[in-house]
Amino acid sequence: MISANLWERTAGDPVEASQCVGEVKADVIIIGGGFTGCAAALQLARAGSTVCLLEANTVGHGGSGRNVGLVNAGLWLEPEKVEVALGRSAGSKLNAALAAGPDSVFALIEQYGIACQPNRSGTLHCAHSTSGWSRLERRANQYCKRGARVRLLAREETRVKTGCDQYIGALLDPRAGTIQPLAYVRGLANAAIAQGASVYQGSVVHSVEYHNQVWWARTAQACVQADALILATNAYHQGLPISARPQCIQLSFFQCATRPLHAELRDTILPERQGAWDTAPVMTSFRMDAEGRLIVGAVGSLEKMGASIHQAWIRRKLDLMFPAARGQAFDYAWSGRIAMTVDHLPKIIKIGQRALSIYGYSGRGIGPGTVFGTAAAMYLLSGDEDDLPIAPIHAHDEKLRKLRQVSYELGASVFHLLRDRRVK
Ligand SMILES: Cc1cc2nc3c(=O)[nH]c(=O)nc-3n(C[C@H](O)[C@H](O)[C@H](O)COP(=O)(O)OP(=O)(O)OC[C@H]3O[C@@H](n4cnc5c(N)ncnc54)[C@H](O)[C@@H]3O)c2cc1C
Repeated sequence: MISANLWERTAGDPVEASQCVGEVKADVIIIGGGFTGCAAALQLARAGSTVCLLEANTVGHGGSGRNVGLVNAGLWLEPEKVEVALGRSAGSKLNAALAAGPDSVFALIEQYGIACQPNRSGTLHCAHSTSGWSRLERRANQYCKRGARVRLLAREETRVKTGCDQYIGALLDPRAGTIQPLAYVRGLANAAIAQGASVYQGSVVHSVEYHNQVWWARTAQACVQADALILATNAYHQGLPISARPQCIQLSFFQCATRPLHAELRDTILPERQGAWDTAPVMTSFRMDAEGRLIVGAVGSLEKMGASIHQAWIRRKLDLMFPAARGQAFDYAWSGRIAMTVDHLPKIIKIGQRALSIYGYSGRGIGPGTVFGTAAAMYLLSGDEDDLPIAPIHAHDEKLRKLRQVSYELGASVFHLLRDRRVK
């Protein structure tokens, strides 16, 4: 198994952007070149603002270039729970904004001709048990009440749509779809550059200050000033002082991709190419890419102690889920860090005058990152907080972060050590 990210191999050309050097003035500084930062840069540049986006590594280095590529409508949290947590009115507003997330993503892809393997055949949330099925029924009911045309599939239709006979049923969400995530974020960055944004790579911001009503961001070689700032570093925050760090729990998630499957398997595994995941306590995701590679993923890191356990489990899991694909070699394996919050709600923190820090999509960042980045730009343009999908807060403290991180990783390792040992 090669320890490499498939998306790097199939995303096309990297964004052409150099290091930031010298004194730069802009209307807005954006720190971080993922979905959030690039969507904000695009929206601001379209509106005629001068934008300086500083990315520590390369565009898409963070979660945006490593994820599964499921463009979901809404959060991990059920819509009803969002409304209980935030109150009916604020919760409905967030639910509505994120339900439209896939529309925003696929509209940008079309408008800017982003070549990122877009597929809008929906997603399948698959029930691994009767309790998982009950949760899907509840979720489907809540989506339908809010006007979404989702559909529950019985066991046989789920088997036909997934090619796997392990699931009791599934929730088909036709609002959703899949993309090649790294190609999408690079496409957003290129569109922003075409609209006049300045995007820099290899530019780690190591200090941010506000004085004389101006934000100053410094890298090793540059000093950038602007009157507004967006911090979009999420789970990949580096270089800046601890006080600026997004308060999130880092949850590792890994994926392995086979080589392109032969025609017969491609016709039976996810024949309509929905992206899928399941209701298991340590969930499994599975999808195909445009070249017919099957990509399977789960919670865990391939860079930590449990790596060999996770790799052995995914081998067994593939054989169990798709016996006809037994023994298929995995050509790629990679992991990434998801920014979780305990309440599973994203955060917008007002870190100062015309300055926001945005993070914590809890595993749902393609739609939300696009929506939140775009909305942050609108807010900076209008000054109206109502333009944000969720009210900004002044501080957020995520308790016991390290302990939770360790327990997630340990839990996933134990689960993968013990589970799925029955291969037919
Ligand atoms: C393995 C995995 C699977 C996932 N699957 C899905 C999925 O299927 N669907 C979905 O919707 N979401 C998924 N997610 C979540 C989604 O990828 C993230 O929520 C999203 O990418 C966050 O985007 P972002 O722009 O906020 O942050 P990121 O993409 O993480 O970008 C942050 C950027 O900030 C840069 N940075 C950090 N510090 C500095 C600094 N000091 N100076 C300059 N730059 C800095 C980093 O280099 C990084 O590029 C997944 C995440 C992972 C990791």
